[in-house]
Amino acid sequence: RQDHGHFLGKYHDLTEQLAKEQGVTPAGKATKTSRLPVFEDDRARLRLTPRHYAYLRISEGCNQGCGFCTIPSIRGPMRSKPIEQIIAEARELAADGAVELNLIGQDTTSFGTDIGYAAGLAGVLKTLDRELPRDVQWIRLMYAYPSTFSDDMIKALADSDRFVKYIDMPLQHISDRMLNVMKRRVTRDQIDTLLDKLRKWIPGMAIRTTLIAGSPTETQAEHDELVQWVKDRDFDHLGVFPYSPEPGTPMGRMTDQVGEKVKQEWVEEIMLAQQDNVFARNEKRINETVDVIVDRPAGRDLEDGYVARIQGQAPDIDSCVFLASPRKLVPGEIVKAQITDFQNYDLIAQIPQEKRRSLKVVGK
Ligand code: SF4
Repeated sequence: RQDHGHFLGKYHDLTEQLAKEQGVTPAGKATKTSRLPVFEDDRARLRLTPRHYAYLRISEGCNQGCGFCTIPSIRGPMRSKPIEQIIAEARELAADGAVELNLIGQDTTSFGTDIGYAAGLAGVLKTLDRELPRDVQWIRLMYAYPSTFSDDMIKALADSDRFVKYIDMPLQHISDRMLNVMKRRVTRDQIDTLLDKLRKWIPGMAIRTTLIAGSPTETQAEHDELVQWVKDRDFDHLGVFPYSPEPGTPMGRMTDQVGEKVKQEWVEEIMLAQQDNVFARNEKRINETVDVIVDRPAGRDLEDGYVARIQGQAPDIDSCVFLASPRKLVPGEIVKAQITDFQNYDLIAQIPQEKRRSLKVVGK
């Protein structure tokens, strides 16, 4: 969906539904969160992810008011979770076996603005790094908003090797006029400066973004600017959605809508530009040695290998690594592997055979 993070809003409804289907009562009381003035407690909840990774929601709702998005009217204004509660939930997830935590919220970089927490997201990151047991080896930040992404946040991410070199930051468009139509409160110049800084301060940083093609009044020239920018920026992961008018939004009320056929063509053009970048980058990665986290066996036998991810691949949304291993692995294990090939967006890697030591016969 173009309004990223929308599935998060369904989380509790889904929990309740799953519990109903399985005939169990969810440990955490599931409630309707629409227009909630306060924050819900996610502790002791029914986990929907495999044991070794988990989503940790740090805020709910959003104050950004993007012109195409219904989230603020559905999920309500931004509500940051108290830091003590975040730490308690993170510890609980760690105790339950989570090796990787993915921090989520509709707008994670605005954390704390509603509760007067001056340290903001940088404070959350530093506290998590200080307080969490080392069993949590990877911490990933999702759903950053470009205009509220501060230098302090980048420094906090750079300062600990537990923060994976990865950021998910939906950018939607790059033409200044379209950013204005979309009410994004950010300019092309600011976005480019931020992207340069992220890549410079955190070398090897993988960046995922999401775009919208064919918003009302978008011209061919603005679309061309977007395609060229995608080619130049070399994003690690990119999703693009054809604009879809949502009732009750400023852009949904605009009369100058782009035709469906044009929208689809523009989506394809952007994805082709992205595909060229990804395939070229994957080719260059062959022979690179990387850390991978094992997600699951790819089949029933050891020969089938495993589905795994590098730090630059988030669970459930990005491409993956198909991993061959000479020994049995368990989900959540982080191992060194060598990239040997790629298959479209996915990487192929193997764990090198351990060298056997043998006695040398000396003095003959
Ligand atoms: S940042 Fe914009 S797109 Fe994302 S949830 Fe908020 S209003 Fe919607």
